[in-house]
Amino acid sequence: MIFVTRANEPLVLKDNKANWLLDYLAALKTHKLNPTKSSKEIVGQKENKYRQVEVKNVLKIMFADKCAYCESYIGHVSYGHIEHFMPKAKYPKHCFNWGNILLACEICNGAQYKSVFFPQKKEGGPLINPTKEDPSTFFPLNMIQLPQPPMFWVKMQEVLQLKNYLALIDLN
Ligand SMILES: [Zn+2]
Repeated sequence: MIFVTRANEPLVLKDNKANWLLDYLAALKTHKLNPTKSSKEIVGQKENKYRQVEVKNVLKIMFADKCAYCESYIGHVSYGHIEHFMPKAKYPKHCFNWGNILLACEICNGAQYKSVFFPQKKEGGPLINPTKEDPSTFFPLNMIQLPQPPMFWVKMQEVLQLKNYLALIDLN
């Protein structure tokens, strides 16, 4: 995981995000009041507006076609996911927030790893957004090729936490 400078916001997002968000939040509200199959589908349609070719293309250039978390090359074997750092399921207001959008591989964004995982400090977090903070400043390790456990993204501010991490990946 390395620091990545965020590219300029894709125009399609910049121009539409305010309206998309209003529509999405309204659909969520309607669904919450009276959940039906149809209201759920509408939420999905409104939510998925971020899935634009232009957004994906800018992310691919910005992340050099690599996953924001594990740095695996994405383009050769899959399409990659437009990933919400703060999960949209928990933070719908950040669904179209460019600063919240990353490129991730299907494994890191899958249910076993990042998915909707977003721990707060008391839960072992917070996570590192590689476009906002330099991950290397949280790891005093520079010689170990780390595998890809979920804890890789967690800020290691305490020695104890680091020790636990090393135990987790079986390096101590
Ligand atoms: Zn990955």
